Amino acid sequence: MKQEKAGWVYGESYLILDRPLSCVVNKLASGVSVLRNWQAKRIEYGGCGGRGQGKRCCRVVRENGDVVECDAVIVTVPLTILKAGDIAFSPPLPSEKLGAISRIGMSTAVKVCLVFKHQFWPENFWDACCPFGFLPEIWATKYPSQGQEEGGGKVAMVGFVAGDRAEEMARLSQDVVVASSLAQLDEMFASAIDPSPATSSFHSCYVKNWSDEPFIRGAYSYPSRARAGDRKALAQPVGSSLFFAGEATHEAVNPCMQGALETAERAVAELMKTVDLRKRRESKL
Ligand SMILES: Cc1cc2nc3c(=O)[nH]c(=O)nc-3n(C[C@H](O)[C@H](O)[C@H](O)COP(=O)(O)OP(=O)(O)OC[C@H]3O[C@@H](n4cnc5c(N)ncnc54)[C@H](O)[C@@H]3O)c2cc1C
Repeated sequence: MKQEKAGWVYGESYLILDRPLSCVVNKLASGVSVLRNWQAKRIEYGGCGGRGQGKRCCRVVRENGDVVECDAVIVTVPLTILKAGDIAFSPPLPSEKLGAISRIGMSTAVKVCLVFKHQFWPENFWDACCPFGFLPEIWATKYPSQGQEEGGGKVAMVGFVAGDRAEEMARLSQDVVVASSLAQLDEMFASAIDPSPATSSFHSCYVKNWSDEPFIRGAYSYPSRARAGDRKALAQPVGSSLFFAGEATHEAVNPCMQGALETAERAVAELMKTVDLRKRRESKL
């Protein structure tokens, strides 16, 4: 952990997007052919030697048998998907890679979005860390404008919990989560005029457990004990056609988007170098 922390270069400031995150994805995807709803079930790689000049080295296969043939594959699925063995690799992944996949952890996170009829917190409040509270971190936010009803806009508070405590919270019923969250906010913002301001202005709640997302199944990777080289082993290419990217493959800046983006740049550079070399070798044959 110490080693990973030392490699964190992005400081402690928050960067808050003023528009949905999809704008970043759409920008990066513009001009790229993207197959949606295409779950890879099998990756066949390393066939370059046997397939002859001009033939594609890899095949990515979907459950219904659809195939994409290509020169190389960059695997960017979350660690949980690799751990679960959702994708079969042929030939099988080397033991160092499998060891790293099994040892690096990935925990879940739960977000509790509480919508209120009116704002009961001070104008300059926007977040609080309450390590021993039911919700260890809380943000105040505006409710999206399309959700406004006659009689004034609603506001929202988002509670966030990760790791073991998120797993505990995921086992509770929504009623218990709502009651415990409101009790915490009532205690934080009680006044003589309204001793339970959160309860009295509560409108609705949405609880999101990220381990329930079938293609994500978690939130953040975390380092394995006493295995400093695991992230490097996870990132390591296999042969000249299988590459790995994604937040868990970053040796320092891992559980975040900029880390994931950096690993993509690293994997593309590795791929270009290897594919160029391979093509040069083939052209000499
Ligand atoms: C609640 C929450 C809050 C967060 N907040 C922040 C934040 O404020 N700032 C920040 O920087 N980071 C944040 N993160 C972390 C950030 O979202 C991740 O670090 C980042 O998305 C990781 O990117 P990735 O490309 O490695 O993986 P992902 O973004 O998880 O992408 C992996 C992709 O693989 C796809 N996939 C899975 N299985 C298959 C398959 N078999 N075939 C084909 N595709 C498949 C998935 O559908 C997914 O699209 C947050 C994460 C969570 C859960």
